[in-house]
Amino acid sequence: MADHHAEPHAASLYAADLGETPPRPPLAGSHESETVVIGGGLAGLTATWQLAAAGRDVTLVEANRIGWGASGRNAGFVSPGFSESIFAIERQVGKPQARQLYDLSRAGGRFVHDRLVDLDMAGLIGGHGWLKVVRHPRTGGLEERAARMGRDYDVELALWPREAVRETLVTERYFGALHDPEPFHIDPLAYAVALADDAQRRGAVLHDGTLAVSLERSLSGWQVRTSGENGPGTIKARHVVLAGSAYQGLDAPALWPGLERAVVPVATYIVTTTPLGERLDAAIRFAGCIADTRRAGNYYRIVGSGGDRRLMWGGRITTRRDEPARLAAMLKADMSAVYPQLGDVGIETAWSGLMGYARTKMPIIGLMAGARAAGLWALTAFGGHGMNTTAMGGGLIAGAIAENDDSWRLFEAWHPGFIDRTIGGRNLIGRTAAQLVYWGMQARDRLEERRAN
Ligand SMILES: Cc1cc2nc3c(=O)[nH]c(=O)nc-3n(C[C@H](O)[C@H](O)[C@H](O)COP(=O)(O)OP(=O)(O)OC[C@H]3O[C@@H](n4cnc5c(N)ncnc54)[C@H](O)[C@@H]3O)c2cc1C
Repeated sequence: MADHHAEPHAASLYAADLGETPPRPPLAGSHESETVVIGGGLAGLTATWQLAAAGRDVTLVEANRIGWGASGRNAGFVSPGFSESIFAIERQVGKPQARQLYDLSRAGGRFVHDRLVDLDMAGLIGGHGWLKVVRHPRTGGLEERAARMGRDYDVELALWPREAVRETLVTERYFGALHDPEPFHIDPLAYAVALADDAQRRGAVLHDGTLAVSLERSLSGWQVRTSGENGPGTIKARHVVLAGSAYQGLDAPALWPGLERAVVPVATYIVTTTPLGERLDAAIRFAGCIADTRRAGNYYRIVGSGGDRRLMWGGRITTRRDEPARLAAMLKADMSAVYPQLGDVGIETAWSGLMGYARTKMPIIGLMAGARAAGLWALTAFGGHGMNTTAMGGGLIAGAIAENDDSWRLFEAWHPGFIDRTIGGRNLIGRTAAQLVYWGMQARDRLEERRAN
């Protein structure tokens, strides 16, 4: 097999701000480590950081660069909760467990916040608060949500009537909003790189440009074979953490096909405008995170300050992997439909990223079925809500390895039972099914809006 060649970070505002940084050397030759983490996104990185902080021996291999996947390309909204709605979670596991899970998801966000403060990087926090806006006049659902979140989850959501929303977000499209003061937004790539550097300072070993190509059971645990520009490598380990998300097994051999099949890659897109400065004041007077409640809706925020302010605009979901040629034009059209007063804005950068979704829209966290007590851990499928949940999940897996803490079992309800290596790789049926589900969601969104207008 030819040596694996790493890809640089995708062109994005974050990658431009990060600039040229030398890669960490790829792994080659024979090594041993108590734990090997596969995947240098925020899931793998947080598990690695937590293990290093607990004084454990841990090695992370990343096929490309730290933060190369969704973790370094996302909108940077750090907010409590999961991709699945907390009320749906409540229906599945009951209120007490849903509350425990919500609290864990909140702690994930606090972990990110605390690391930034500890690393003297609180300046990365670009804005606070989250406005969840609705695009139809039936806003009763917002009221009910605010009441339930206050009563059952201790979350103070403020209901913003149409007038207040339209003063803050100057558009005819929105009819009401919920304001949550807790979320904030950051540059996720800068955070991922800082977390990696700090893990390294604490004794973790991290390798860029190192693709894990196979996973075999050995007498003492596992053997991971790797490929990189310095040649092949092997690492023996008692524990292996699979944190490759949507990218695992996509353009490379499958490591554990049952898991890879359970995680469907879903693409979403982001553009950033050229500096708009004061032009933005006529449209958006809110520095926090903004998203509409549609299932395939828009999410956006202002980046930068003063005359250098730009709009970062995200949206659309698809299971198509190739980036559409008209990506920038598509998102620009979405932006103009909401804020026509911005006029003809220039698009500076446009990029896409893959989120890993399980059918349940919940993360897959814990020991692999069929390999119980054998030290093979899944840490994946954080969907579109990974900034807090990867921190939470990384902490749960590290706690399990370092302290035998079995809190990860709170996620057992969403652990697909069929995860073993015998099932074939991610297949077309999985992808097509997911695409149909998302087309259905978009169609329902459009119908609701048409009824409302
Ligand atoms: C455009 C976009 C916007 C988003 N916005 C938000 C947001 O605002 N807030 C939020 O909470 N979430 C958001 N998300 C979701 C969030 O980014 C993800 O849930 C989260 O980053 C997933 O982290 P991860 O570590 O599981 O995966 P990733 O960050 O995708 O990392 C996986 C890594 O594993 C590596 N890898 C895979 N296979 C191997 C292998 N065999 N060997 C070695 N390495 C391997 C890959 O190269 C990759 O770097 C967004 C996602 C996208 C794409």
